[in-house]
Amino acid sequence: MASPHETALQELKARLREIYDLSGAAGLLHWDQATHMPPGGAAARGRQLAALRRILHQKSTDPEIGRLLEALRPYEESLPDDHDDAALLRVARRNYEKAVRVPEAFVVELTRHTSESFQVWAKARPANDFEAVRPYLEKTVEMSRRFHEFFPEFEHVADPLIDLSDEGMTVALLKPLFEELRAGLLPIVQAVADREVDDRILRGPFPEERQLAFVREVVEALGYDFSRGRIDKTHHPFMIKFSLGDVRITTRVKETDLGECLFSTIHEAGHAMYEQGIDPKYEGTPLAGGASSGVHESQSRLWENLVGRSRPFWTHFFPRLQEAFPETLKGADLETFYRAINKVERSLIRTDADEVTYNFHVIIRFELELELLEGKLAVKDLPEAWRARYAELLGVEPPDHRDGVLQDVHWYSGTVGGAFQGYTLGNLMAAQIFEAALEAHPEIPDEIAAGRFETLRTWLTENLYRHGRKFKPLELIERVTGKPLSAGPYLLYLRRKYGELYGVEL
Ligand code: ZN
Repeated sequence: MASPHETALQELKARLREIYDLSGAAGLLHWDQATHMPPGGAAARGRQLAALRRILHQKSTDPEIGRLLEALRPYEESLPDDHDDAALLRVARRNYEKAVRVPEAFVVELTRHTSESFQVWAKARPANDFEAVRPYLEKTVEMSRRFHEFFPEFEHVADPLIDLSDEGMTVALLKPLFEELRAGLLPIVQAVADREVDDRILRGPFPEERQLAFVREVVEALGYDFSRGRIDKTHHPFMIKFSLGDVRITTRVKETDLGECLFSTIHEAGHAMYEQGIDPKYEGTPLAGGASSGVHESQSRLWENLVGRSRPFWTHFFPRLQEAFPETLKGADLETFYRAINKVERSLIRTDADEVTYNFHVIIRFELELELLEGKLAVKDLPEAWRARYAELLGVEPPDHRDGVLQDVHWYSGTVGGAFQGYTLGNLMAAQIFEAALEAHPEIPDEIAAGRFETLRTWLTENLYRHGRKFKPLELIERVTGKPLSAGPYLLYLRRKYGELYGVEL
């Protein structure tokens, strides 16, 4: 006869698997909406997704899950921390708590409000009309602050929002980390951002079909498994997983900008290889996913930037690229191309920013979010505060709201707080993880220059990917790299790379 805890564990796992499968089904509807659905399907698709999300919310907050978790507490406490069941129960409890402590009426109100806010923003941005979104953003700030009431154990009002996507991260930890980063970045940006770099080589034109064929070849070489994935076109590229056996990526193509499709596809393939690398024994459980936003972003950026924008990578791939686009690239030289894809400039738009200045865009948003949530900054003063920060940190000022405070969808389609820090955490983690991989395998750059990626990918799978969500993010980084997360490895990486590129001492 099965012991009581075995019966309870089996029942809990069955419930969690049902939630996992329903969310995979919702994901497939969403993927279809963003790739192949004809416009006529939009209204019904909205209803179908809402229906599935309602069912998912009910299943995830079912008191029976709470009862099972309570019944299993003695079993959980008897296990060593790194036992799979202990991790499963920890993550299941975390998900359940996050879901049940926010009152249903509040969830409904927030969903309604953010979808309205998004509609208004979608019109206000092209019209450059901040006043149109201002009352919506004011309400969003108010509602974002209220999360602290549901999770009063957190110290700072932004902490519950940050913890949703980057578990264990707090304002108290992020502030000094971002301070160190800002201080380290300023002299690098000063030294390299005002150089003339000719990047006309990236303007093509590059025919769409050949771009798609080339990026397929690239991500297949990196290790993206097409028997468990596929690439389709969309407006805003993303990665999505329906199960560990079906992890898809999407891309978009601009014939006059080679970087658009190429680097966003490598980026999404990095996210996807992480999911494809999770141990199949976790399939159907909440452990079958990435550890956090930051850790996930570390893998997209590791492949996109540390590998995909490196000299060894293009030593191998540039001749292939020339073969693919002989009209535009025959006779072009690798050095010009390498400089073009690593151009550093003071810019206004976060999503177009290079790997050096990118973090300033995040730091600006993070600091403004804290001030809004702390009540130190009023929404009406946000555009001016935005302008002042850009002038101070990047030396550029937005000429309008469109390329200023209205540029990102985040604040207009979700909460204020919790969304941006993951991008910079990803950059820092990527450099620290890559440094550890090179320490273990100094031959990796030579292999990359020969078009071979299996040593790096295997090391990442063994040390990081296979664990899924088993370990908390900060603990995972320490296990993988042997030291706590810091800005040091990232700053060192930038100093070496851009010092060499521009022949300056950084
Ligand atoms: Zn990403």
